[in-house]
Amino acid sequence: MAGQADLHRNVFRLDAKFQDYLRGKRGSAAKLKQLRLAMLQLLEIGEKLPRLIRAVKRIYGGKTLLKRIVQAVERKEYALPKAIYDHAHLKASLNTACDTWACKPSELSTVNKLAASVGRSPGSFSKDLRSSEKSLEIGCLIDVEARREDLVVHIGERALHDMVLAAAEGYLVPKTKKTRFTEVYGLCLGTIRQQRVSRRGGGEYWVRHVYVERAAIQLRARGSRDAVIPDHKSFAVQVDMAKVLFPYLEVVGDFHSHPFLRARSIYRQVGWTLSGEDREYNLNWLKEMRELGQEPRVSFIVAIGRKKRASGRRIARPGLRHVKIMEIGRCLVAISAYRILRNAEYEANGVELEVLAQIPD
Ligand SMILES: [Zn+2]
Repeated sequence: MAGQADLHRNVFRLDAKFQDYLRGKRGSAAKLKQLRLAMLQLLEIGEKLPRLIRAVKRIYGGKTLLKRIVQAVERKEYALPKAIYDHAHLKASLNTACDTWACKPSELSTVNKLAASVGRSPGSFSKDLRSSEKSLEIGCLIDVEARREDLVVHIGERALHDMVLAAAEGYLVPKTKKTRFTEVYGLCLGTIRQQRVSRRGGGEYWVRHVYVERAAIQLRARGSRDAVIPDHKSFAVQVDMAKVLFPYLEVVGDFHSHPFLRARSIYRQVGWTLSGEDREYNLNWLKEMRELGQEPRVSFIVAIGRKKRASGRRIARPGLRHVKIMEIGRCLVAISAYRILRNAEYEANGVELEVLAQIPD
């Protein structure tokens, strides 16, 4: 890996060229510091400041060196910024951070050295990434934090019943002669609690417990056979009302159903997975919820399909931690939980679903 091994050399060759260029010029010390800060910013969060781009143009070979440094930073979806973040802010040891993100210790020490030369500690540029657009773009914080978080989702009995009853109605009661069944939609209200856990050698880890106490079915959502479009006014009204009725709860997520003509299609088509449209939709929904002061963490799919006949056999369970399958009457119901990442993407990794209800087996 040439680029990887050369990062240290390229950074300090460029630094030496800056020093040569600035030698004897007015305010050179301050200018050098500014350029070093710009390089540090590039290494830590992948941001290319115009100041740095202008400066390398004035130096022989500067553009090539900068290009190589940028390549090293962007390699493997910003592995280096992620390693720095993990090490500096989540207290991963240098070795753990390097192993996790496949970086070389020499790359991290480049950052340490450069930071020390301007009197900073490494990670100062990624300190406030929590709310930064840049962090969403490079996925820095999201990937690092997701790796350190286990999400345990508990659905309370009442919420489960409400979700299943709504999904069953949309499924079993035809909308029109032509439309046998439609998807349904609702918001999930509950509580979120974060618990620190310690694991050997690797910095901070935590378990986030999401408990769903209520599911608010959205009657104005327009459901069709293979999609459901929620109503925006309904969101505002339901969130407002919920604040008054349940000031101790927040919007922890949403759910929608995936109806299938036959139960076996749920298995065949892996009916509990999110569709491409579901993923696309989430981006705007998350924005909308944040405007309403909510930070949802999870999305549920309730897949439902009828069995041709009662088989009397035990139902097959795919052994996925984020999916629960149950039989209710003649219907097979599969509920899945997906974590919502900060950049509005969904993920099932590290998600465990617990259903706190008695379901006849
Ligand atoms: Zn869907």
